[in-house]
Amino acid sequence: MEKRFYQKEIETMDRESMRALQSERLVKQVKHVWDNVPYYRNLMEEKGVTLDDIKGIDDLHKLPFLTKDDLRDQYPYGLLATDIENCVRIQSTSGTTGKRVVAFYTQDDVNLWEDCCARALVAVGADKGDVCQVSYGYGLFTGGPGLNGGSHKVGCLTLPMSSGNTDRQIQFMLDLGATVLCCTPSYAAFLAESLKEAGLSPEDNKLKAGIFGAEPWTEEMRRDIEKNLGIKAYDIYGLTETSGPGVAFECREQSGMHINEDHFVAEIIDPDTGEVLPEGEKGELVFTSLTKEAFPLLRYRTRDITVLSREKCSCGRTLVKMKKPMGRSDDMLIIRGVNVFPSQIETVLLKEGYTPNYQIVVDRVNNTDTLDVYVEMNPESFSDVVKDIGSDADKLAGAMKTMLGISPKVHLVAPKSIVRSEGKAVRVIDNRKLHD
Ligand code: ADP
Ligand code: ZN
Repeated sequence: MEKRFYQKEIETMDRESMRALQSERLVKQVKHVWDNVPYYRNLMEEKGVTLDDIKGIDDLHKLPFLTKDDLRDQYPYGLLATDIENCVRIQSTSGTTGKRVVAFYTQDDVNLWEDCCARALVAVGADKGDVCQVSYGYGLFTGGPGLNGGSHKVGCLTLPMSSGNTDRQIQFMLDLGATVLCCTPSYAAFLAESLKEAGLSPEDNKLKAGIFGAEPWTEEMRRDIEKNLGIKAYDIYGLTETSGPGVAFECREQSGMHINEDHFVAEIIDPDTGEVLPEGEKGELVFTSLTKEAFPLLRYRTRDITVLSREKCSCGRTLVKMKKPMGRSDDMLIIRGVNVFPSQIETVLLKEGYTPNYQIVVDRVNNTDTLDVYVEMNPESFSDVVKDIGSDADKLAGAMKTMLGISPKVHLVAPKSIVRSEGKAVRVIDNRKLHD
């Protein structure tokens, strides 16, 4: 019978036992930070909180927040909570939104992280005998090492491909019969496109499942990838600061990601006031680690916007679920006073039958914001000379206006003219900063 859980006892633990476990671990984690990280102890003292105030998980809200600015400010060693001699690894953020942050790991930290990734792999049906192609970047980026470690723990035959060299990716995928693919969704879309160009259909590969994350992607993109690769596509979430991918992972139900709550406690706050919101409301995701030794983070503000749900899941896991984050609070563009997320544009494009290859350029001309969306034409419509490209662009702009509330200028460009991403895709170029 197919293995359903990697650590069943934890993954299906009843709520009361989980809260007891979290409480016990939180008290220890806070003491560890208090004793070893003067920077955070100061934040606690400034807020008038001492160790005596933290008796369990209900006291979590009393702790001060930690932000990415704190991490940047304390770069590189300021938040390290153990001696360097106990650390075996560093990883670093991709630097998508500014100066990179480094995170440290003891061997136990690596272990718990890899366990989280192993849970994700088992949840999508991976087991011994599976061939797991890891096409996330290896190195400082957490994607490759995280899934690599998880794949080893599950006992899959691991193909440590890293990203890039698409021809070799495809050759190994086919020659070795990869059954599980792990990479960013934008790279999965690129691999699918390349397979198609090589004249291969979804039946020609042995893939059954993909674990795609590290960047926002829409449901429409999921369906596109599933169709083009002939697989089930699952989401995975994580951030370097809290370890890497595997903080949350999707199960067969494909309706949000289970958070590994025995290691990471999630809260949702109002990003403006910092107030904790009731479960089910949308807001900024905040994580507290419970078991980390080298780089514990208490109430770390991720800036990712999402919703938590405790609805019963058909997979049997009791771990709380988070919805796909549709971008970070700082991904949100404010254009002529209107809030626009790149993911909304992606949704429209795929609904209208375009590929997920696009770029958004924002600028300011005569004090007015401009929004230009560059979209690749499908090869079919490109070769159709009779087709009126202008009216296609107008139709797309109309659909976007309905979704966004403002009109973008749509430019239909030749197929393959937008650079493909091997890691996280760069969707937005905001030139307004140049003029500020
Ligand atoms: P950086 O912050 O420089 O991109 P990381 O590589 O640590 O560095 O990326 C973590 C961030 O990536 C998360 O905070 C989140 O914004 C994004 N992310 C990770 N997984 C997902 C996912 N499945 N869906 C949407 N966004 C994701
Ligand atoms: Zn589930």
